[in-house]
Amino acid sequence: MALSNDEILAGDRAHVWHPYSSFLTPSPTYAVRKAQGVTITLADGRELIDGMSSWWSVLHGYNHPIMNAALVAQSEQVSHVMFGGLTHEPAVTLCQKLVELTPQGLNKVFLSDSGSVSVEVAMKMALQYWHSQGRPEKHQFLALKKGYHGDTFGAMSVCDPVTGMHHLFSDNLMRQRFAEPPSSDFYGEFNPADLDSVKEQLAAHDQIAALILEPIVQGTGGMRFYSPEYLRQVRTLCDQHEVLLIADEIATGFGRTGKLFACEHAGISPDIMCLGKTLTGGYMTLAATLCNDKISDGICRGEAGVFMHGPTFMGNPLACAMANTSIELLLQNNWQQQVANLESGLRQGLAPCRELPAVADVRVLGGIGVVQLHQAQTLDTLQPLFVDEGIWVRPFGKLVYVMPPYVMSADELSRLTQGIYKVVAQLS
Ligand code: PMP
Repeated sequence: MALSNDEILAGDRAHVWHPYSSFLTPSPTYAVRKAQGVTITLADGRELIDGMSSWWSVLHGYNHPIMNAALVAQSEQVSHVMFGGLTHEPAVTLCQKLVELTPQGLNKVFLSDSGSVSVEVAMKMALQYWHSQGRPEKHQFLALKKGYHGDTFGAMSVCDPVTGMHHLFSDNLMRQRFAEPPSSDFYGEFNPADLDSVKEQLAAHDQIAALILEPIVQGTGGMRFYSPEYLRQVRTLCDQHEVLLIADEIATGFGRTGKLFACEHAGISPDIMCLGKTLTGGYMTLAATLCNDKISDGICRGEAGVFMHGPTFMGNPLACAMANTSIELLLQNNWQQQVANLESGLRQGLAPCRELPAVADVRVLGGIGVVQLHQAQTLDTLQPLFVDEGIWVRPFGKLVYVMPPYVMSADELSRLTQGIYKVVAQLS
């Protein structure tokens, strides 16, 4: 028997943790009955246009017939087998495709369960690599302030120590080093002084194993779009100082910024790259950490002789099949045009927000639109206003931001941006 809306919500409040949530002061939570295309239908019957792509993951829309069929077909072959000693076509095809599509040189792929785990894997690869080179003193990471890389302990240690939401655990985290983030905007002039902080850190600290950053878009730490020249020069500095570069493309990968991978804006290839979120088009959880041959050779010739990681659900065939199908759809669907359409629709639709008193800045890059407010707002106030407008937008502090599914029509996009305007207009 199906539960009623009230029964779902009562059970939820009693037992179910949500992301960054409290049982004492629960935030507004809505039960979903189904989702189709870019529309989420709540259990109370209301329909919402999805501006969030379920946190950057749903590219082709919900309940997609081709994705659904691929899921059924794979489940009739094999849903899961352990990856130790066994392999299968979905995983091999996926890894081949990822090598083909990602920047030159990233030839080896480690599959894991989620974005945070792929960051743990990337960090471990860097440490094992330097160990194999007889440089175990290279054990620290350099990260950018305002960066965000996930919620597990290694990933937390490279998130911004203040805005990264993890300062509560600071005594339990590995001590890393932090550089100032770039101030040069994606669209503006590059200010060479932006590199001073990274240069100082690299010159002063031989123990740095790798620099980890989110290429071009610092996401959770402020939705900031920065200069490709910064990324290009960071790559050069890392080489000069014998420091590996880890690109966390978990949010930016697969076209979101207008290039298939954000590193392409700068024409660089990192030593290690993390992918996740939309890897499976939002159908299953899956992540990948890619590395170049220098890293894989080093690790495999090192003391351990193997890479020391192996999750139970590594290479899950269902997840790999969804990733393969999602990538096929992406390439068939002319994603460049889809993202260009999102970019122009967001630019046009969000521009009027600039005139509103509550708004500090409006910016757009590819399929990402940001309305930055002067004052941080509580989610509990804003979330119901967006739902009343028939749109699903989940703001964060001063940031009202959207990254719609690539299949959103011009009409749906303008309903989304109009809804944002109406809600933000109510704020003073
Ligand atoms: N890195 C970045 C840039 C992210 O945006 C996120 C997720 N918000 C993560 C890592 C962590 O991914 P996951 O939530 O899948 O663990």
